[in-house]
Amino acid sequence: MSGMLVYVLPGTLETREADLDTLWEAGATGLEERAGMLRAYFDTPADLTLDGEWTDEPDQDWQADWKKGLTPVTAGRFTITPSWLADEVPPSQIPLLIDPGMAFGTGHHATTRLAVEALGQLDLAGRRVLDVGSGSGVLALAAALGGAERVLGLDIDPVTLPAAIENAQLNGLKAFPGTPARFETLGGSLSFAVGSLDPDDLDDTGEPEYDVLVANLFAELHDLLAGAYRAVLRPDSPLILTGILQDRLPLVRAALARESFTQVSETLDGEWVLITARSS
Ligand code: SAM
Repeated sequence: MSGMLVYVLPGTLETREADLDTLWEAGATGLEERAGMLRAYFDTPADLTLDGEWTDEPDQDWQADWKKGLTPVTAGRFTITPSWLADEVPPSQIPLLIDPGMAFGTGHHATTRLAVEALGQLDLAGRRVLDVGSGSGVLALAAALGGAERVLGLDIDPVTLPAAIENAQLNGLKAFPGTPARFETLGGSLSFAVGSLDPDDLDDTGEPEYDVLVANLFAELHDLLAGAYRAVLRPDSPLILTGILQDRLPLVRAALARESFTQVSETLDGEWVLITARSS
């Protein structure tokens, strides 16, 4: 084959994470989402049984093309931007530099933007923030740059950790000696770790100890994790959930009611919803 070898499949929300894992494991050299489709680039054909098709596309600098499509995104008091466009951030905005590992959240997805905006509305000084499903680290970084005292970004996918570390460095943060995933911030520290809401994954004891929890996952997972969200949040603390499709909203509403969250408020953007609530 000549040109570029691309495997193209629908970016179905329910199977997206598993599909991305499968594609990386099969040797993809790059992943991209475009117009609702996942595009995986390969040097040699791989044996894949996903619901996709191989195409042989004319050779081009696909990375340059992909870069061209990224522009700075305003999200409340933050502007999320790739590093090569940092000069375009207005001085009144907090620059949030993200050079994404393509699949992990660039700020261009409505849910990421909504969550950054919601974090920007909180007074984070002296607060401990937990980001569940940190991906590129964009939300944890927003919390850290927004002045939080201590931020932990957790993701079950180990592939995200180097991207999150790189993005922290890109924003000028310096790692504490001997701890490459723990950074010094103006307010205190920002750490990234592989894991989820198991007590072992949380940095201290797993006792309720966070003042803010943000999670950009999906409705079914929020339903499953709602009890764990309640368990790690201090009373009367904000919860920010997104990644929720409008038609799955009832599931998340019910989960929040079950776990006695109050002051539930919803923000819509197209088919996506962000919910904020407070622990009781
Ligand atoms: N936080 C980033 C953002 O807002 O752009 C990335 C969000 S991405 C939609 C969801 C991330 O959650 C993925 O990186 C995935 O690996 C991670 N994830 C999925 N299930 C998880 C779980 N149970 N615990 C922790 N992370 C999870």
